[in-house]
Amino acid sequence: MPVASPPAAAPLDSLNDAQRAAAAHRGGPLLVVAGAGSGKTLTLAARVASLVLEGADPQRILLLSFSRRAAHELARRAGRLLHQALGLPAGTQAPSLPWAGTFHGVGARLLREHAGHIGLAENFSILDRGDAEDLMGLVRQQTGVAEQTSQRFPLKGSCLAIYSRAVNSQAPLAALLRELWPWCVEHEAALKRLFNAYVAAKQDQQTLDYDDLLLYWHEMLQASPALAAQTGARFDHVLVDEYQDTNRLQAAILQAFKPDGAGLTVVGDDAQSIYAFRAAEVRNILDFPAQFSPAAHTLTLERNYRSTQPILDASNAVIALAPERIAKRLWTDQASSEKPLLVAVADDAAQARWVADEVLRLREGGLRLKSQAVLFRTSSHSAALELELARRRIPFVKFGGLKFLEAAHIKDLLALLRWADNPRHRLAGFRLLTLLPGIGPQRARALLDAMEKSPPDPWAAIDHAALPSAARSDLARFATLCRALRSGAMGWPGELTQAVQWYLPHLQRLHEQDHAVRALDLDQLQRLAAGFASRERFVTALTLDPPEATSDESGPPLMDEDYLILSTLHSAKGQEWQAVYLLNMVDGCLPADLATGSAGQLEEERRLLYVGMTRAKRHLQLIVPQRFYVTQQRQLGDRHVYGGRTRFIPDALLALFEADGPAQRARAAEAQAEAAKGPPSLPPVDLRARLRSAW
Ligand code: ATP
Ligand code: MG
Repeated sequence: MPVASPPAAAPLDSLNDAQRAAAAHRGGPLLVVAGAGSGKTLTLAARVASLVLEGADPQRILLLSFSRRAAHELARRAGRLLHQALGLPAGTQAPSLPWAGTFHGVGARLLREHAGHIGLAENFSILDRGDAEDLMGLVRQQTGVAEQTSQRFPLKGSCLAIYSRAVNSQAPLAALLRELWPWCVEHEAALKRLFNAYVAAKQDQQTLDYDDLLLYWHEMLQASPALAAQTGARFDHVLVDEYQDTNRLQAAILQAFKPDGAGLTVVGDDAQSIYAFRAAEVRNILDFPAQFSPAAHTLTLERNYRSTQPILDASNAVIALAPERIAKRLWTDQASSEKPLLVAVADDAAQARWVADEVLRLREGGLRLKSQAVLFRTSSHSAALELELARRRIPFVKFGGLKFLEAAHIKDLLALLRWADNPRHRLAGFRLLTLLPGIGPQRARALLDAMEKSPPDPWAAIDHAALPSAARSDLARFATLCRALRSGAMGWPGELTQAVQWYLPHLQRLHEQDHAVRALDLDQLQRLAAGFASRERFVTALTLDPPEATSDESGPPLMDEDYLILSTLHSAKGQEWQAVYLLNMVDGCLPADLATGSAGQLEEERRLLYVGMTRAKRHLQLIVPQRFYVTQQRQLGDRHVYGGRTRFIPDALLALFEADGPAQRARAAEAQAEAAKGPPSLPPVDLRARLRSAW
């Protein structure tokens, strides 16, 4: 007897009226501004699904989010809704959305497509932040800007930060310096000279840094109205999540892309804007409607579907203390008697123990590790917890740290892939040549100079160079590998396998102590590589959106295994878990850095707390260590500082939390009784008698 398939659910069926209005809006530009957990991301997904159902071509939908992970998640949600709506049988794929990504990723793709028109080499490489900083350092030295003044000149990292801020905020350098780097005001002219030289160096090497991906994209749209019209017209719909964290340049790109706003939808929450330090501009969201004529349609969502009422009450109260914000009323029908918990613990170690205990307790109660997350202000704040988790064999994955990609051995291999793609990438070449025994900086530079003069086979220069005999055979082998990689004959990911084979003996030589552990990372890199179609795709993806997950002592969890989530507050954006633990809720940690916080920075820290609290669905704990180790104070001698509970939860809000409540006291008493008992008493064993009777 045929089984009737369930009636297909339309993507808008489960939405509330306001959400449905947003998803069903057609025509001109649309802004959805709403608080945390109100379904902004879900509404975007439903909107995409319903557009496709109406006949929109998925190839012509551009979905932009703040990380590749978030963009893929959004596309996946849309795909699932579509799947249901089409009544597709399980196991079949809904149409995929090839243009879901970050601004930077999409920029890179479009620039590569149009490279020929705008004077860029098609094989341009992308500098990650570390490489960009190194190049800035090199140019700083070559231009001699620092020597020409008797005053302290900013170091390469600060120079890059100033440059990046100027590019992304589109603000005049003088004004930026006055506001953010007042001690650099007198260096304005020298910095301009430096930045010009930095731009020239990048162009000579055919490299683009992160900021260039936006800058060139924007310039391309400005410089050629025809190209702007053409690229804008290839997308019928452009949808942007987390719009509050876009910067001026990104807003300008969208405007140039869709001048009349047709098909443009942006969603966001001004109370969750947390990237001002990267020039995010909360005004983008406030100014969006008036950018168009007639003004963009604006919708708000007021019902929260994520959290229980007590969690929402506490989060709302925290953000209500912010002096400036668009007031929003958020409500939920999820009642609960469990208030968020404020937990006082003695110190970092006690905090780690408490969290590990609680995680296991909730797990015993049926909550998988994956639905629990520990969030913190700075990546290093989780160190003690990571050790505790490893000790107890609780697997975890950490987001927001870049450890994996920052590791020297991973950088070495990526440099090799980049250099094979683009032999003019001097930084990559320099890194690799100086890895080889017998090649110092001077010889590496000479070789790179010689290579530049010998196209089309730059590595031929290596064959002809005068070299010590010890270095010659290593270099010859290396040049052969580079040529083979460049030819593309080995295919992907075979190329990486060959590269790793070449590299392993060097890894052993360079990292005597821990080469075996590092080699595991190389395995991981090869596993990652298998998921990409080509070397170029792989290198671009890793440079733009490094795998944030680093698993350490506890070993890389398998995909179907259960593991706890550790994340910085910044990387937790847009996500949700049943249970959330916020570490180090003390002044000095949040807000971070008491000394330099301007009023604006302080408000951003408050929003960060709001973002953290609103990630929780059912259980929320804020941990307050009474003693708090401040490393920055090292020059004053190591010391413990009692920062006190974060100022963002003043006494007036305490009633919204369970502080040192009965549940907590009972658990503490239990733990104390357990500890007081000492190791369980064992019956005595007379070993001597045993041994005697054994024979
Ligand atoms: P954030 O501001 O944190 O990014 P958001 O506004 O994007 O949050 P979503 O992540 O889309 O919110 O939704 C929060 C939760 O509420 C999700 O679990 C989502 O599935 C659920 N949700 C949203 N709308 C509805 C609805 N109409 N019915 C049932 N669940 C919903
Ligand atoms: Mg969201």
